Amino acid sequence: MSVKVRFAPSPTGELHVGNARTAIVSWLFARHCDGHFLLRIDDTDQERSKIEYEKIIEESLEWLGLNWDEKANQKDRMDRYTEVIEQLKKDGRLYACYETPEELGLKRKTQLSRGLPPTYDRAGLELTEKQIKAYEDEGRKPHWRFKLNHTPIEWEDRIRGAVQFHGQDLSDPVVLREDGSPLYHLCSVIDDADFGITHVVRGEDHVSNTATHVQMFEAIGDHVPEFAHLALISDAEGGKLSKRLGSLSVRSIREEEGLEPMALISLMARLGSSEPIEAFNEMKPLIESFDFAKFSRSTPKFDTEELLRLNAKILHETSFEDVKDRFSAMGLDQVEESFWLAVRPNLERLSNIQDWWKVTNGPVANIIEEEDKDYLEQAANLLPESSWGQDTWNSWISSLKENTDRKGKGLFMPLRKALTGMEHGPELPDLILLLGPEKVKERLRS
Ligand code: GLU
Repeated sequence: MSVKVRFAPSPTGELHVGNARTAIVSWLFARHCDGHFLLRIDDTDQERSKIEYEKIIEESLEWLGLNWDEKANQKDRMDRYTEVIEQLKKDGRLYACYETPEELGLKRKTQLSRGLPPTYDRAGLELTEKQIKAYEDEGRKPHWRFKLNHTPIEWEDRIRGAVQFHGQDLSDPVVLREDGSPLYHLCSVIDDADFGITHVVRGEDHVSNTATHVQMFEAIGDHVPEFAHLALISDAEGGKLSKRLGSLSVRSIREEEGLEPMALISLMARLGSSEPIEAFNEMKPLIESFDFAKFSRSTPKFDTEELLRLNAKILHETSFEDVKDRFSAMGLDQVEESFWLAVRPNLERLSNIQDWWKVTNGPVANIIEEEDKDYLEQAANLLPESSWGQDTWNSWISSLKENTDRKGKGLFMPLRKALTGMEHGPELPDLILLLGPEKVKERLRS
């Protein structure tokens, strides 16, 4: 059987880091199996779903390189949901309930105060025709619940292993709102069935939903897919990652932080698994090595420092070819390969290239210590005259060694500080070539 996986974001916000991880893991699994990847937009909640968010989610996935083979919107499938809902009503698997949210809240509170689990008491099943009429006369409209069988529910989770629930410990889930709109649970199950999804990959916050979904698959007469529930990630301090932390959206990682997509992919592909987190420039090795068995059940920490470390490593190995189209947007049309190769090892983010461009092209606040003045004057005088190339540095340095008593740091650091105003940066042999004889002389003397 060929594998078919879906990623099912709700367009009620941007794609944030936690959801991106689900997308990345699902996608890697699908590609590992040569399977099919469906993007399903869970937009049944017409009030909260926004087309702008759907767009941002798609752009974020595209930027990450997570292509999809097929896309579906739940809002286009309402007729199909109604059809299944009508059938389930006929089968006696859905029942009408009339409680208001306040009444339900009160019930829960009372149960909890008595030390009882706050599961729905199925009052809806006991209503007489008279009671129903009274509610309807009051103007109440019913919401509908799916009646769970009070039997054991079990599945072998690809990440969590054997999972067991019992129907009687769970509330019958609401599947249809008062206004007649269907809710996530049943729609998701109908879609997973109709689209032939073989593996449902999602966060562990859905585990108990899955227990109810298993019975829904059975009720609509379809096969139950396999499940893999990923442990939710926390921030570096162990706190819960909030969906609302806008700073952790994929869009902000791209636009505001200016990070590389493969940095996020590299981190998320391996976070919470026993495989080492390494910087990858391409998907291939990640696809090949993907294995659910390597994922752990414990909460992994998302550390932005680690993301930056990966980002830097990826940049250090990025070829000029792969990056050159991005320079003009930064106002750096003249960047050439030699410049890229020289500064690349010093970049944490691509935008740092602007600083190095300024260092090599603009005026710099260079540093000349009093005690180095004579040495630097001497260095300027000893600069090779003949045309500059790969050997320039070596011949310059050997004549500096011959003519001064300086060596090691005392020899190099004053040069670096005079040339760049900094103590760290691109390799000096590359740097002097980028600067050229004029600027080198000028900076050594000013
Ligand atoms: N729209 C749901 C969510 O974002 C999908 C969950 C699922 O994968 O079934 O949580």
